[in-house]
Amino acid sequence: MPFFAPRIDRQVRRLHIVFGDQLDTESPLLLELDPEQDGILMMEAADESRHVATHFQRTVFFLAAMRHFCESLEVPCHYVTLDDPDNTGSFEGEISRALRHLRPEEVFAVRPGSWRVLRMLGRHGVTVLEDPHFITQPADFASWASGRKTLTMEYWYRELRRREGILVDEGGRPEGGRWNWDKENRNAFRSAPEPPPPWSPGTDEIAREVFELVTKCLPDLPGARGMPNGPLTRQSALDQLEGFIRLLLPEFGRWQDAMWTGHTRLWHSHLSPALNVKLLHPREVIDAAVAAYRAGDAPLNSVEGFVRQILGWREFIRGVYWTQPEAYRDENALGAKSELPDAYWNADTDMACVAEAVRPVLEIGYSHHIQRLMVTGNLGLTLGVDPSALRDWYLGMFVDGVDWVTTPNVIGMSLYADGGLVATKPYAAGGAYINRMSNYCGSCRFDPGKRTGDSACPLTTLYWDFLLRNRDTLSGNHRMTLALKNLERIAPKEREMIRSRAQEVRDMLSDRVNRPAPDTR
Ligand code: FAD
Ligand code: SF4
Repeated sequence: MPFFAPRIDRQVRRLHIVFGDQLDTESPLLLELDPEQDGILMMEAADESRHVATHFQRTVFFLAAMRHFCESLEVPCHYVTLDDPDNTGSFEGEISRALRHLRPEEVFAVRPGSWRVLRMLGRHGVTVLEDPHFITQPADFASWASGRKTLTMEYWYRELRRREGILVDEGGRPEGGRWNWDKENRNAFRSAPEPPPPWSPGTDEIAREVFELVTKCLPDLPGARGMPNGPLTRQSALDQLEGFIRLLLPEFGRWQDAMWTGHTRLWHSHLSPALNVKLLHPREVIDAAVAAYRAGDAPLNSVEGFVRQILGWREFIRGVYWTQPEAYRDENALGAKSELPDAYWNADTDMACVAEAVRPVLEIGYSHHIQRLMVTGNLGLTLGVDPSALRDWYLGMFVDGVDWVTTPNVIGMSLYADGGLVATKPYAAGGAYINRMSNYCGSCRFDPGKRTGDSACPLTTLYWDFLLRNRDTLSGNHRMTLALKNLERIAPKEREMIRSRAQEVRDMLSDRVNRPAPDTR
């Protein structure tokens, strides 16, 4: 059955705006609505796929999930489709149009996914409610952060474990006697891994219809034309969660940092799209993982490692986003100015690790955390790519990209552009790290152990060049002491060779800077 966009053709008392990343059946916007007098507004806005170059599958995923959500509503909804001839293409234009048409006395929304949209809601006098989808609210984070010189995720996470009673005993002590199982969770594969086949949402008529619509209305989006592989309905999201807990969680911990050629999803959950559009609540995801541990179906290192990602990192990152000013997204503490290399748009590079980390992004809008942080992020950091260019690439090219989560991960965690608010030190690494955690170097024409010469690994060269360029800025950071000491041991002549090889690497990578590459459009 084709999607039929519902309309409201009367005045409403209250208008509740539901954005594409707010498909939460428990939202106060649904629960506190009188179907006789009030109504929902949902909008498909072309600008949301254009303000940063947006992956085709990210757009299809959001719009298809929105349409399913709209169909599931039992309250009046005014839904604006992408191909509505009167669609202005922007949230701003569509809200203005709806206000004229529906003449509400009051307009409500829950806190959106970005400062940009929050500001826009302010311009229209919309009342913004806190979003109960999260375990903590920005005010909780602000009061935890107040008076602290540095924000360390680990302490925030421990406090939440105690506060929420997750994997702690009655005295607030951690299950298993330790807070952290990172040591057990840093294994590398010795031979090709055989993860269970990735979960797939199956065929979906609404998604097929949206696929055609986006192909027609937004023909120039980057990324492979394919059906999105995230769940589009609440039921499908619960099915994906159940599959993750049963098949992947037991091994999640051991392999969470490992990489292998041709594999990207491995034992990772791939739950971020469902979590970020709010088809799943983080609390139910955590509860399911803890229940598997209690039932003896998953070991503690895996369950703690997974809970840490959701309760720790996810809530921490959101806290940082909303307690920093909007200008945080433009920070550039290291003064990085290079353009984003073409390889980010076409995976066309001799650097095997980069090709392996970018290819799945182009194909399915996903790569796992270590590929994001230690390959594409690390290359951007050590090359000195302008943080805003990389921020926009991550935001648009990943199906799970939403500003509140992308921005602190890129500006803070990955690029150290906030000067150390999120990461206690820059996540810079040379080829040795990649060689330890993957098999990529085995098929690469470069040598991870070399930092100078034609066969030197670009990441290794760039790592040392990064230290040379930033040693004054980083010298006050005690976690960089060892790295900077090692740098001091390099003779001046070799330093010159590193600088000159780094320039060659830069030239090689910027050879075809011309984004986005036509073949990914
Ligand atoms: P798993 O490895 O299975 O982890 C489980 C869940 O933990 C994830 O689904 C996610 O909800 C949460 N999580 C783990 N790490 C983080 C983190 N650092 N921040 C927030 N949540 C986390 N995540 C996004 O959801 N959207 C983004 O746009 C995004 N951009 C990123 C950009 C960079 C440079 C980096 C380093 C990380 C980024 N992350 C982002 C965080 C993380 O990489 C992804 O959440 C994760 O890879 C999603 O895949 P998964 O669901 O298989 O994760
Ligand atoms: Fe990447 Fe260097 Fe290894 Fe090649 S040698 S895969 S560039 S780390």
